[in-house]
Amino acid sequence: MNTKYQRKYYQKNKERFKKNQREYYYSHKEERREYYNSHKEERQAYSRKYHNENKEKRRIQNRQYQQQVKEGILTHYGNGKCGCVKCGESRLACLSIDHIKAIGAKRRRKGVYFYRWLEINNYPKGYQTLCMNCQWVKRVENNEVRNGL
Ligand SMILES: [Zn+2]
Repeated sequence: MNTKYQRKYYQKNKERFKKNQREYYYSHKEERREYYNSHKEERQAYSRKYHNENKEKRRIQNRQYQQQVKEGILTHYGNGKCGCVKCGESRLACLSIDHIKAIGAKRRRKGVYFYRWLEINNYPKGYQTLCMNCQWVKRVENNEVRNGL
């Protein structure tokens, strides 16, 4: 059987083929519905699992990216070292950016948006990397803290 013959054969019986396909489709409709219904929970559980796994993956990737941005910023404002400019504390969780001349809490930006903001604005001057302790000490020294010693 060559292809030319096959094509001819198909053309000749096209309607019949299509009709068969249609009939098959409709006659198995119930089966398909049954299959779908009996596997509903399975399918839903699967898509839920898929969604959750990806959510978790995205969350981790996001976190890694934010950490990278933060580290880059802290290193820049830590004079080339990812650490506190006053005491050298280098644990990431303790470090944050301090506005050298800021008085009080006004215009203090927080979190990852602040790091992104510094990056986008080409590392503006007037900031430094400080650890929480040194920030607290600075606030007490500047009389920014009411119940400081
Ligand atoms: Zn420090």
